[in-house]
Amino acid sequence: MEIVVQQGDITKVEVDAIVNAANRSLLGGGGVDGAIHSAGGPDILAATKQLRATTVPDGLATGDAVATTAGKLPARWVIHTVGPVYAKTIDRRDQLISAYRRSLEVADELGAKSVAFPTISAGVYGWPHDDAVAVAVETVRSMADQVAVERVIFVPFSEEMKARYDAQLAD
Ligand code: ADP
Repeated sequence: MEIVVQQGDITKVEVDAIVNAANRSLLGGGGVDGAIHSAGGPDILAATKQLRATTVPDGLATGDAVATTAGKLPARWVIHTVGPVYAKTIDRRDQLISAYRRSLEVADELGAKSVAFPTISAGVYGWPHDDAVAVAVETVRSMADQVAVERVIFVPFSEEMKARYDAQLAD
């Protein structure tokens, strides 16, 4: 598996699947979720509403992932995952690891060869940036031999986050 970093807007990345840092409702939010729905158009929300009406009536569990159409985005699928809200006194790192693992498993099941990830939980959910990037890189690396995904693209939004990925990947 090849792992690369490409700073910018994940909605513009040409890839088989892009991962969305969604919330449990799957019905839209701010941050990267808002950007994905706004650039991808209404088909994505129609698909997540359909999932709520069928397979995930109570919303998606934290650490799990599901796929929908990518609408107008230059990708085939959006894989919606839910990262944990950071809490100082509760260790939710396993849930963050799970969000990456489940996203890659879903990508693998779909037959996606290339997958783009935002930094899950690193925005509104408040995860410390250094650890958010460490979990992202460590978890994807640990799964490299377990999935047929050939290329993972980490898509940091800021220069600050890009530098963190570069440092983490150089280790
Ligand atoms: P969460 O609720 O999981 O914290 P956010 O969407 O608030 O999710 O933030 C996750 C990360 O995605 C943050 O680092 C944020 O800067 C970044 N982000 C926001 N918009 C985009 C975008 N269009 N492309 C890539 N990353 C984005």
